[in-house]
Amino acid sequence: MLDAEDAIQLINEDKEFNQDTLTHFRKCIGDRDVGVDYHVISVFGSQSSGKSTLLNALFNTTFDTMNAQIKRQQTTKGIWLGYTRNVTNSGSPAPPHKDTFVLDVEGSDGAERGEDQDFERKAALFAIAISEVLIVNMWEQQVGLYQGNNMALLKTVFEVNLSLFGHKKNDHKVLLLFVIRDHIGVTPLSSLQETLETELVSIWSQLSKPEGTEESSLYDFFDLKFAALAHKLLQPDQFMEGVKKLGDSFTLEKRDSSYFKPDYHHNLPLDGWTMYAENCWEQIETNKDLDLPTQQILVALFKTDEIASQAYANFTENYESRVGSSNQENMASILQQLKTECLQEYDTYGSRYARAVYLDKRNELVEKIQLRFTETLTSYLLELSDHLVSQFRKDVLDKTSEKSFIEKLSAAKENVLQKFEAITSEFTKLELVSSLVKENDKFNSVVEQEAVDLQEKQLNVIYARSSKFISSNLKEEVTFLLGHPDPSLWDLVLEKFNEIFDRALKRYQVDSDNYDFQLGFSADRNKEVYTKIRINAWISLYDIVRDYLTEDMVVSILRERFENYFRYDENESPRLWKNGEEIDNIFRVAREQALDILDVLSTASTSNCAEIIPDVPLSSESDDHIYEDEEGVYHSARFAHIFTAQQKEKILQKFKRQADYTVIEAKRSTIKTTTH
Ligand code: GDP
Ligand code: MG
Repeated sequence: MLDAEDAIQLINEDKEFNQDTLTHFRKCIGDRDVGVDYHVISVFGSQSSGKSTLLNALFNTTFDTMNAQIKRQQTTKGIWLGYTRNVTNSGSPAPPHKDTFVLDVEGSDGAERGEDQDFERKAALFAIAISEVLIVNMWEQQVGLYQGNNMALLKTVFEVNLSLFGHKKNDHKVLLLFVIRDHIGVTPLSSLQETLETELVSIWSQLSKPEGTEESSLYDFFDLKFAALAHKLLQPDQFMEGVKKLGDSFTLEKRDSSYFKPDYHHNLPLDGWTMYAENCWEQIETNKDLDLPTQQILVALFKTDEIASQAYANFTENYESRVGSSNQENMASILQQLKTECLQEYDTYGSRYARAVYLDKRNELVEKIQLRFTETLTSYLLELSDHLVSQFRKDVLDKTSEKSFIEKLSAAKENVLQKFEAITSEFTKLELVSSLVKENDKFNSVVEQEAVDLQEKQLNVIYARSSKFISSNLKEEVTFLLGHPDPSLWDLVLEKFNEIFDRALKRYQVDSDNYDFQLGFSADRNKEVYTKIRINAWISLYDIVRDYLTEDMVVSILRERFENYFRYDENESPRLWKNGEEIDNIFRVAREQALDILDVLSTASTSNCAEIIPDVPLSSESDDHIYEDEEGVYHSARFAHIFTAQQKEKILQKFKRQADYTVIEAKRSTIKTTTH
């Protein structure tokens, strides 16, 4: 097992990317959250120019060096990755420093073979694609000599850089840090720097530049810095002094003296960086066009998706236990908390990736969360709706309240609609769901329907109570009047009828001007209700009259009336007959009086001889002759005509027989009296 300090081979001699890189990173970082706060540095330079030695001295890494004693021919080819938080410097600031990843490119002398040149070129491309700082390591004596592979390598670096970034306007830059080795000191660094820069500019100008990049300058893509180091073996102390000075620029936070600048960084979190590096290498290796911004987007897409999925998985895991049964009082705050936690997790890791991608994925996540909430809220609101509707019903039917039905109804309606709206608006205000307009509408119509049902129920109560009141009162009063009829009978009946009817309506506070039944009905509907009650009252009267006035009943009424007159005098004393003539006289008057009443009972008409006609239609037929009662039986509805001529004749015959009998009996009693 490798330790964190051990360098790993990021890309091996077979040009394969190391799949353990991320694991290695994790080992290096531990459980710290580094985010984008880390650095990547590469070194470049010809074979055996002391690169690894420099890195080990500067970064305290453990790259293999070609030990002078052992004299190995060459260390293993490939790109090595070292890790440090300990950068050699003048002592301040002291380690640990920022997490720094160092890439050591082990090539061969590029001049040797074509295949190696290929690797060198790919390594350069890769180093530029992923590093912030590229250290170019060279001997002092190489400066000014366009000699060997050193400057050829630089030309390569420039060329690949153009192919990478040339066609795109890019803010990204790379720092080229020239470290001049075995600096004797005779030639000052400043003049070496001048020579080198002139040389670089000249190389740049000689490059064959891709279309559209002809005018570009070296400085559009690179910042340049220079440093010199003494010979490590001959002047070890000066060498270390130089290394420390170099290290200062890697550790100081101060912008102007630091080698690091924000626009050198690729701004990918470390866990995305591995994927990014691997993608870059794969594209380079397969000789595809390497489009770095696209690569960064691809990484961002992949990583934000991964992070969002993880955040959503945690969200789901918490969901059931925290939300549980859906009738919780503090549902909104529970959901809010779940959402916040989920987004916080996503934001912590996701916000470091390309902003547009991060935001897109965030919206997706929010939608997913809202969808989940909507499922929960649908059943929650359904329960709430049921609860509120039954509350509504209870409030409307509350008998202890003094208020009228319609007052209770509108107060209760407002109350529940407001409650529902308050709860749903809390959910939308917190953006827990995108919209609950549908749910609100649905609740409104449920309440509306319930209100209509309650109104109809209440109306039926009014119908039932009023008709009971009217019919029982009518029965008592009208039966009495019918039983003791006189010529003004129907005036009295009508008077009673109207009085009872008015009393019935008054019980519902109905104002006789606009018939408002306090049910929240329109004027038309109120009129309709009034008419129906009125019709029922008329039918009730009709039935009472007809039930009571059977033929036999009329006969007995006539007879009673007849006998009252016949048997008793004006002082209500029984008559004592003196002779048959007297009997005949009284008999005639008594019979006349009884028969007057038969006319009164046969046709309902007022004392000014107008037949009684109901003021509302008793049937849908316009002529009112037929109507259907509640049992579905058809009646002749000519209200005033109680007995037909034949019926009257029958009654008359029966009455006559009985009256005659009374007379005969009376006469018989006179005979007896006179006989004694
Ligand atoms: P690399 O192939 O560029 O990584 O070179 P190494 O770091 O392996 O070193 C190559 C050889 O140069 C080794 O034998 C080192 O001892 C030697 N060396 C290291 N530093 C210096 C230096 O500052 N000056 C000189 N002249 N040789 C050095
Ligand atoms: Mg080396």
